[in-house]
Amino acid sequence: MGWTGPGFVDHHTHFLRVIAGEMGPCDVADPTEVERYHRRVSERWSTPMDDDDRPPIPEHRDFPAVLESGLLSAAQLGLVQITEAGMHDWAYLDALQVARDRAEALPCRVRILVASGLAEQDPKRLVSTGDSWVDVIGVKFYADGWLGPRTCAVTEPFKDRRNPTGGGDTGILFLDADTLAKRADQFAERGLTIATHAIGDRAIDNVLTAYEKIYGGDCAEAAPRIEHAQLLSPSLIQRMADLGVVACIQPCFAYSDREAARVALDDAALEFAYRWDLLLDAGVRVITGSDYPIEPLSPMVGLQRLITVEPQIDVDTALALLTDAAAGTVELADDPRSLEPDELPDLAVFETRPAA
Ligand SMILES: [Zn+2]
Repeated sequence: MGWTGPGFVDHHTHFLRVIAGEMGPCDVADPTEVERYHRRVSERWSTPMDDDDRPPIPEHRDFPAVLESGLLSAAQLGLVQITEAGMHDWAYLDALQVARDRAEALPCRVRILVASGLAEQDPKRLVSTGDSWVDVIGVKFYADGWLGPRTCAVTEPFKDRRNPTGGGDTGILFLDADTLAKRADQFAERGLTIATHAIGDRAIDNVLTAYEKIYGGDCAEAAPRIEHAQLLSPSLIQRMADLGVVACIQPCFAYSDREAARVALDDAALEFAYRWDLLLDAGVRVITGSDYPIEPLSPMVGLQRLITVEPQIDVDTALALLTDAAAGTVELADDPRSLEPDELPDLAVFETRPAA
């Protein structure tokens, strides 16, 4: 039995960068290298979204065609819309607009969060295109590192990095509340979405304080985002709900990070790590993104993870988190609600129809 439903959207990928063959700043599969990179960047008082010491985009004879065929492969996975979470070069937007003009449409809608460093170099370029196929929606900031390399900013020192005499490693905070508020304000004022990477509880606390400073009582309407929002606490969850901050979570992380989390965190902290269920219960607005290439791009893999890995979201809620009827529709070979979870990653996509 086929299934037609709202289209799958991916609110946080690094898809365009991968399609273009752009090398990342370090080998993300090696936690030691990631830690070294994060420390190097923070010692320069910079962040990964401000770092211009990056390898350039490789030369392509027809860059628009390269991006378009990449978007076709995303559509074949069932996606009607992706968001590039941190564009470092305007060449991507230019090429996408050429591809869109040639074909009058794209295989998949693209939303762009511009990396904070690029955004500040030329704030005037940062305007909505008004085009449903390719649009600039906001700015991506980066408040802390990652859990695996122990660079996310935490309140209690990591369990495996404590000094015998007390204290220890609490990760890296690239941006404190004052700095983030000061930098994000000009963009927030112009109605652009602010999306800030924050994984550790200390980083999330700082980002929420920054959002309080920037938006005051208008926060819910502006709907600024926290990307990842992994290491939570009851009070952080409540603040996110009260402010109306959006949590952009990664369905695969609770599974991929569980070993690192067990080694790095006390039981008390572990209890509030990756608690999408508590975010939803508190009324926090939750959206999802793959964080490809860190995790697979396929939304079916995300669906499978959401319903099988603790805290195990029910399948209807999981589908609602992964899709958006306003972005388009998707037709699948089978009803995902009637399949065994291990069959989901192989579910065939018949058709994707992005909303024009
Ligand atoms: Zn990311």
